[in-house]
Amino acid sequence: MAQPPHKADFKKIIEWLAYILKCPICGYRYNLEQTKIIDSKENIPPVGANLLVHTDCERCKSSVVFSIAIDGPEIFSVGMVTDLTSSDTSKFKNTSALNSDDVLAMHQFLEGFSGDFRTALSK
Ligand SMILES: [Zn+2]
Repeated sequence: MAQPPHKADFKKIIEWLAYILKCPICGYRYNLEQTKIIDSKENIPPVGANLLVHTDCERCKSSVVFSIAIDGPEIFSVGMVTDLTSSDTSKFKNTSALNSDDVLAMHQFLEGFSGDFRTALSK
């Protein structure tokens, strides 16, 4: 009889990541509350997963997105400093990429823009 596929335990993984991941800017060790999985994909078999993790550093206030690939016993991680907060990451996660119409609309907006950001942003 076939075994059910092994489910990666993301809660355990995130606990472990919070323990090993450090802020690349100041070296501060993240804690669990500042570490969120923003995207995940399991790869079966072998046991593995791809994770996108967002962290906010408590000490220097920088945010980093880590791309983490788990392939059996091997773990690869790449960190990128980002301006996105964790709420931005969920906000922009399901929006489509900018296209040429968006760029043209911005161009047209800027042509008639008075420079008054307060009015423009309160619309
Ligand atoms: Zn830091």
